Amino acid sequence: MYELIFDREKCARCKSIPCMTKCQYIKLDTVTAKKEWQKVLDGEDSFILEACTTCYACNEYCPHGNNPFYMIVDRQEKKGILPSPRPIITMWVNQCEPVGKFTVGLLQEKALSYCFLAHFNVLAHGKLFEDLEYSAVYGQEFFCNAVYLHYAKTSLIKERLPKIIENIRKQGIKELVCLHDECYATYTSLAPAYGIEVPFHPIHYYDYLIEKLKALKDKVKPLGLKVAYQRNCSTRLIPEVDKSLDELFNLIGVERAVRKYDRKNALCCAEIIRMAKGPELADELQKKNLDDMQSVKPDYVVFNCPACWDSLATKVAERGMKPIHVIDLCRLAVGEEQSLNLEKMEAEV
Ligand code: SF4
Ligand code: SF4
Repeated sequence: MYELIFDREKCARCKSIPCMTKCQYIKLDTVTAKKEWQKVLDGEDSFILEACTTCYACNEYCPHGNNPFYMIVDRQEKKGILPSPRPIITMWVNQCEPVGKFTVGLLQEKALSYCFLAHFNVLAHGKLFEDLEYSAVYGQEFFCNAVYLHYAKTSLIKERLPKIIENIRKQGIKELVCLHDECYATYTSLAPAYGIEVPFHPIHYYDYLIEKLKALKDKVKPLGLKVAYQRNCSTRLIPEVDKSLDELFNLIGVERAVRKYDRKNALCCAEIIRMAKGPELADELQKKNLDDMQSVKPDYVVFNCPACWDSLATKVAERGMKPIHVIDLCRLAVGEEQSLNLEKMEAEV
């Protein structure tokens, strides 16, 4: 059985407890943070377990790579604490259950992962994906399962993830380009934290696009745009990829506007928070985030996560701003059109 690999000695030596004192939702001074965090580590009751919005950010705030968020989820499940209403959790558990049926393209040793997100059927085309367009996996059998961190279902991840990894390996895939960074986080952070072996090389799609754009440099026209970036929860598990995004923006001539709710102070799309803590808090967070985006007068609001897109793109457009996915922004730089497009989506409905 897989168990969380966690170094309590690091916590014992940690003076400022940044994982808890930097939390945007639970306001703690250092003394209280130390006391309550110790309770979490010791398996005792702590209000942290109930108050956590599952924003993932404490994993990024820990400077020692100790994955405090995985510890919180582990303790929530052991204590039967449900971070969201039971029917929502049950729906997620059922709808993503592997059923032995799946869709794959003409697979090569290098393949794209669409995970469980149909948006990538629209996005992963054109010059940037010409070698891999048909080499893709999609569906429950390839679903990374990280979403269950939001629902205190570590046991389900431990049960299903090794089977998913084996499904990918059995397709002969040696390099998996993860189009959703929750997948990349699963294979580079979550699986190692539980000692689950990953027998293929995960590649974040930012890094894939950087190489592709360098190869296509004669076709790249700098866009000269200023953008507001919507940073999503799963990037908190892999903060190192934020540097790759900066490099990517640089390659296509895009300025990432400095705004209050980006980088370590980012606000997630708040839809999980809507389920976990109710609409009042979610609406307040979204308003703060949208106000902040608007204040920098961006040419585009750039999304990385399709789930953020689903919850915020329409609201962005209602305020007169233009939403676009990172892949589509790169597509503009090589002379192609935006493919994930609200107007097109509405017309199709
Ligand atoms: S999890 Fe990290 S930040 Fe939190 S107390 Fe332990 S070492 Fe410090
Ligand atoms: S996941 Fe977010 S809300 Fe929960 S303790 Fe960590 S930083 Fe705070």
